[in-house]
Amino acid sequence: MQVVVVGGGPVGLMVACELRLSGVETVVLERLTEVDQRAKAGAIQGRGVEALDRRGLGDRLRALGGEQLRQFVERLRANGLRGHFAGMWVLRESDYGEERMLPVPQQALEAVLAERAAELGVEVRRGQVLHGWEQDADGVTLTLQGPDSDEPYELRADWLVGADGGRSTVRKGGSFAFPGTDGVITGYQAIADIDDPEFLPRGWNRTATGFAVNGPTPGRLLLVEFDGPPADRDAPVTVEEFQGALRRISGADVTVHSVSSVTRFTDNARQADTYREGRVLLAGDAAHIHSPFGGQGLNLGLGDAVNLGWKLALVARGRAPEALLDTYTAERHPVAERVLDNTRAQVALMRPGPHTDALRGIFTKLLEQDDANRWLTDLMGGNDLRYDFGAKTDLIGRFCPDLEVGTADGPVRLAELQRSGRGQVLVFDADERWGETAAGWADRVDVTYGTCADAPSGALLVRPDGFAAWTAESEEPLADALTRWFGPAVR
Ligand SMILES: Cc1cc2nc3c(=O)[nH]c(=O)nc-3n(C[C@H](O)[C@H](O)[C@H](O)COP(=O)(O)OP(=O)(O)OC[C@H]3O[C@@H](n4cnc5c(N)ncnc54)[C@H](O)[C@@H]3O)c2cc1C
Repeated sequence: MQVVVVGGGPVGLMVACELRLSGVETVVLERLTEVDQRAKAGAIQGRGVEALDRRGLGDRLRALGGEQLRQFVERLRANGLRGHFAGMWVLRESDYGEERMLPVPQQALEAVLAERAAELGVEVRRGQVLHGWEQDADGVTLTLQGPDSDEPYELRADWLVGADGGRSTVRKGGSFAFPGTDGVITGYQAIADIDDPEFLPRGWNRTATGFAVNGPTPGRLLLVEFDGPPADRDAPVTVEEFQGALRRISGADVTVHSVSSVTRFTDNARQADTYREGRVLLAGDAAHIHSPFGGQGLNLGLGDAVNLGWKLALVARGRAPEALLDTYTAERHPVAERVLDNTRAQVALMRPGPHTDALRGIFTKLLEQDDANRWLTDLMGGNDLRYDFGAKTDLIGRFCPDLEVGTADGPVRLAELQRSGRGQVLVFDADERWGETAAGWADRVDVTYGTCADAPSGALLVRPDGFAAWTAESEEPLADALTRWFGPAVR
């Protein structure tokens, strides 16, 4: 097998789709026999939405409904808002165009990605538990257990991607360091049946003892207490435990009849020091964990997936040198670092007590300043992300807008061109030399000639993950940029 992805959550499925799209034999091994139905993400935002749109998956997700969440988002927009920070609903518009939000639950995303994986020919094997791995110069040997036998078995792969969540066996099996901060909260998210559902106002309620979020869909409750992390993360959450937390936070003698889809979480904020150890790579929660405030986990994990997929595919197919994989940690580690920090800041701003009240007051005033508000909005959506490619041109290293290119065959959007998962050279000055240069990479890169009102002059190289890698104004020749990102030319 060329690549084994351990973990069939959203990030593992997305990585597998990316690999397969680029022609790599890929299998996903997932411990659970069925999709995890517990409530996790309720929406996907920011660059994560664009990553899905660039592969033509956004429309499938939009068609899936999520009507109540959609209405909630529309109500926010009608009030000029797009999000919250630490439960303060103050964030307004972005500097980078309309903020994107897909109001679909995580399970819907996983279903769409599983469907896409099947279409592309990715095999997803469920009920397979990874126990450990060892690597040598040529590949990785995984030790696994299937659902029908107590006997472990071995599987050999050229490359291993650990997308197996926050407690990643892949990460723990290597010498990855996982530094960060311990949790200080115990949180719950559940769909709860309560005797008086109206006892708690809809939205975010900050009380003298914690936070209780009622909604946005009926029955959905998120509770946070600041008395340390849970004693036992793995123990099932009972109705009594959930009711106890709800009573302590709300101060009301409310009765909870049942809870479903329940998760217990804390705010450990940790990050692997490197996302690559030889032939083993980490992505998503396996590489970084943090509290769910601000709904950033999927955005971050999908960003990892689309950054890693095409690079690993080129290396696994022998087209690009292994050094290309080192750009994965270099580009993605700082992105997660920012998310970890902003979630820590949110926990600090959510604590009960008069000192935090004062801090929230000052913070709210600061966010009345347009510049500060936009800066925080862009931080939360990852909109202002710019990878350091060592270039002076501002566009290089940034996510390329969805340009409309007028070609001889009619208009085409960059997002449509990118469905192939290949690199894109867009030529706007009709100079055929750009196409002649790129011909050496015809197995990895497409060339499109056309016009575009918003485009930089000359020509533009866009990586498969949508980031601008070169323009005709760059000091670097196009052939060097193509070699850097896609390996040597094939003539
Ligand atoms: C309460 C809560 C609310 C959240 N809300 C949001 C939100 O609104 N927006 C947002 O973007 N994010 C949110 N998140 C975060 C989001 O759910 C995660 O970031 C996301 O699930 C990460 O995806 P992943 O694929 O990396 O990991 P996971 O979803 O954890 O998937 C990992 C997979 O690996 C499998 N696995 C683990 N170990 C093994 C093994 N040894 N062998 C085989 N398989 C294995 C697991 O069964 C699992 O299916 C929330 C999280 C929580 C807990």
